[in-house]
Amino acid sequence: DVKGGTHMLKKIQNKRSGKADVGGGSFQSMGLHPHLLRALTIQGYRTPTPIQRATIPSLLATPPRDLVGMARTGSGKTLAYMVPLVQRLNGRHVHAFGTRAIILVPARELALQVLRVGKSLARGWKSEGAPHAGDGHDLDDDNSKLGSGECLRWGLIVGGEGMDEQFEMISGNPDVIIATPGRLLHLIVEMSLSLTLVQYVVFDEADRLFELGFSTALSEILARLPSSRQTLLFSATLPKSLVEFAKAGLRDPKLVRLDAES
Ligand code: ADP
Ligand code: MG
Repeated sequence: DVKGGTHMLKKIQNKRSGKADVGGGSFQSMGLHPHLLRALTIQGYRTPTPIQRATIPSLLATPPRDLVGMARTGSGKTLAYMVPLVQRLNGRHVHAFGTRAIILVPARELALQVLRVGKSLARGWKSEGAPHAGDGHDLDDDNSKLGSGECLRWGLIVGGEGMDEQFEMISGNPDVIIATPGRLLHLIVEMSLSLTLVQYVVFDEADRLFELGFSTALSEILARLPSSRQTLLFSATLPKSLVEFAKAGLRDPKLVRLDAES
């Protein structure tokens, strides 16, 4: 059957080129925590976008693997990394571990936007009492023992804010830091901020991070993070400089590339 054969070949080619299978997939089929599913429903997110279908399940798989996600602006890249982040941090604050995830963004307004999305997903976990049992997706299997029952704490480290406020933010022991690179590096140096327990690192709008000249700051931040981290890079375009950066900072990343049609 020639037709069937061609179809099969296309499927294999799509797999090879890292193209997403955009056929099925729902948030319900991704093994997400009920709190997270409820938060998605409340926010009005009914079905995942193609980039979300292609990235969320693989970001939750074990062992963790690095990923480069390329899709146009407006395709839903924020949830593509935020849903796995909240799931893997178990939606809860763990004082003993300090900061476990960092999201780097090119600008203050974007940081605020990302913060809103993150908080909207993690809200409400506190009131539910018993922590989610470890299911192999958690960054820390000991979460349930060490977790205070408090929701995730978020820290916003961006230029334009007073330094005192930022020091206070860091002293609050945030589980997740959303930051612009210059200011984060400044705080790392000034406060000897330790990032040794960071396990999940996201470069969002990576092409803009580079256009704005943050590449040196980004490399310096990367050098201070544990090599066991999972690193994700999301971008609308993949210029050569970014490919070079990904080669240096990411380990055998899975490439998810959704071109114009998505
Ligand atoms: P990108 O980062 O790729 O530019 P965003 O993450 O900012 O895209 O998302 C663009 C818009 O799409 C936002 O308004 C967001 O709320 C909406 N959106 C994201 N995912 C979904 C979804 N699964 N269902 C419906 N709307 C979504
Ligand atoms: Mg975005």
